Amino acid sequence: MADYRKMWEDLGMDVEMHDQLCAVLPQAFGDVYLSQENRPEGMDYYNMVVADIHGIRPAELIEHQEKGGKVFGTFCVYVPDEIVFAADAIATGLCGGSQFWVPGGEKVLPTNTCPLIKASVGARLDRTCPFFRIADMYVGETTCDGKKKAWEILGEDVPVYVMNLPQMKRAKDVQAWAEEIADFKNKVEEFTGNQVTAEKLAKSIKLINSKRKALERLYHTRKQDVVPISGRDALLISQIAFYDDPARFTQMTNALCDELEQRVENGVSVVPAGTKRIMLTGTPLAIPNWKLHNIIETSGGVVVCEEMCTGTRYFENLVDETKETVDDQIQALAERYMKINCACFTPNEGRIDDILRLAKEYKVDGIMDVNLKFCNLYDTEGYFVERALKEAGIPVLSIETDYTDSDAQQLRTRVSAFIEMLNH
Ligand code: SF4
Ligand code: SF4
Repeated sequence: MADYRKMWEDLGMDVEMHDQLCAVLPQAFGDVYLSQENRPEGMDYYNMVVADIHGIRPAELIEHQEKGGKVFGTFCVYVPDEIVFAADAIATGLCGGSQFWVPGGEKVLPTNTCPLIKASVGARLDRTCPFFRIADMYVGETTCDGKKKAWEILGEDVPVYVMNLPQMKRAKDVQAWAEEIADFKNKVEEFTGNQVTAEKLAKSIKLINSKRKALERLYHTRKQDVVPISGRDALLISQIAFYDDPARFTQMTNALCDELEQRVENGVSVVPAGTKRIMLTGTPLAIPNWKLHNIIETSGGVVVCEEMCTGTRYFENLVDETKETVDDQIQALAERYMKINCACFTPNEGRIDDILRLAKEYKVDGIMDVNLKFCNLYDTEGYFVERALKEAGIPVLSIETDYTDSDAQQLRTRVSAFIEMLNH
């Protein structure tokens, strides 16, 4: 890893505490990733991104700021990056996926808050993540209760703008979301001093759509009988999509897809024929949460799809690129984003339809409904998910977990038993 110590000090980070994270991450990455056999060569790029995750991209963001640009930190796939990029600013994901940050969050949040929220708050307040230090403004949303209150706490330390996401999907709710996006555009313009014109917005809509298309192409290779890439690697790519420069990410992902498509043609698989194909559905798996994928793929299964925000919910459906005025473009954005099916909506039947459709498309043998501990929304929605899967005759295993390793052994036993059951 290059020496970024000075940069971290200048960011006001707690460098000593951060050293502890730097000390464990390479080992964890090596164990989960570098131990895999027959990885696509195109993964070298993503390996490099992770190896210097707190160096390369943060340095680019700082360079952008030194030229007068702004950086917005986001936490949810409903927040439209297109608006940010159209104002010559950069959007970067901020969701925390490591147990390292959880105790910091627990200093100010109830213990029974989901680990994603606790880690995100801890990463900011403990000053141990450069991305959380760099972002000039955080953009929150009114999705779940834990997040809503977390914005108020974070707002005491950093500018936070909150988008009011409707929680139903009637025509008037789509309209309300369009209005929220218009208000967000005004805020971004005011904060950056740059105007969002129709021309710039058209360009950023294309940019983010191209990223979606690259991810769609990647996921398409996972639908094939031959499995050209492990679930772990695909998850890593989905996680990096939230941080990386969108144009470069798209280019590198398309290059990887060339290789994966070739693998499919040549019958090159990362797992033996007949390995049980698993889909995960549930709460997001923020970087570096690779726990369950690793357990599944070292217990005789392979993950071929994630119906998650770090998965299909991030890239499915494109924004209409044909609109010519800012108002029409905002409407198109609202329509696309409101097609995402998060459990914070009621009713949320669209998600059940998605899960059943994806199970067919990816030819899955079994599904794991995976929810972060204390996520009431997804946990409760599990009732409908599991019922629908049982009715469809698709085996399902329900899992509730957090970022600690304390349940790893127990999870391994349950996952192995599930895969064993699929094998018979
Ligand atoms: S699970 Fe819901 S609240 Fe969380 S990132 Fe996804 S859409 Fe946003
Ligand atoms: S996982 Fe659940 S509780 Fe956690 S932030 Fe997402 S919706 Fe909220």
